[in-house]
Amino acid sequence: MTTIVNDNNNNNEKEREKKNNDVDEQQILLRIELLIVNTGDLFKDTKIIYETLLNNCNHTNCSRATAGVGIEYILNKDLITSYNIEITNKNRKRQAQKATTEEENHHNNHHAKKSKNDNIYQTMLPVTATSCPAPVYFNAVFAWVKQSINSMEKQRTNPFSNFATNNYFFNSFLETLKKIYRRLFRVYAHMYLQHFQEIRALDAEAHLNSMFKRFVFFALSHDLLNRTETLPLDNLIKAFVRKEGTRQQQQRQQ
Ligand SMILES: [Zn+2]
Repeated sequence: MTTIVNDNNNNNEKEREKKNNDVDEQQILLRIELLIVNTGDLFKDTKIIYETLLNNCNHTNCSRATAGVGIEYILNKDLITSYNIEITNKNRKRQAQKATTEEENHHNNHHAKKSKNDNIYQTMLPVTATSCPAPVYFNAVFAWVKQSINSMEKQRTNPFSNFATNNYFFNSFLETLKKIYRRLFRVYAHMYLQHFQEIRALDAEAHLNSMFKRFVFFALSHDLLNRTETLPLDNLIKAFVRKEGTRQQQQRQQ
């Protein structure tokens, strides 16, 4: 009799444990989804605002990817690989478009409409490249971020991947995410510190501020950005945080 009671208890406990594990796994999966979706949006916004500057951020004006005095961002192997993959994909697409256009109409080439970025992605980078013009560096960052997000999304939606339960996968996911924020932050550092006058002339300061605030608040609240990386824009971030604190305080008092 006692044995039977114990068995039942064990079964109940096992069921409870399984239920708890399922809930935990569900929560982790939801957190992963939230992080990927928001990162995808923040990435698109960052790329769009950088591209509004593309005419000024060129090989002549920005021969190095700098952020103020004494800071230069340099290429490394994974950025070079992503950039070269992007070129290969774009060349493939160009060839496919060319073939379609030629087939459809010899005189009408609106299908082969060039995007601004097509001019950047022309030449493969040598594997030993380090210093490079800012547009090359930032487009390498965009290529790498896009590929990283795609691969995280593939892992997330793969029913056979144990993304949420396997610590190794989850930690490497967080590491990649942190790297994404570190690299996208550099785009803002370059825009603020090298192109601020042009941004003002374009009347885009408020827009840039609101994009950056959204980016940096999300990254800091999810612990995805190291404060040593944000040093070039530290004063600006402190001002945003102060302002947000005052706003929230005023809201509470109302
Ligand atoms: Zn520039």
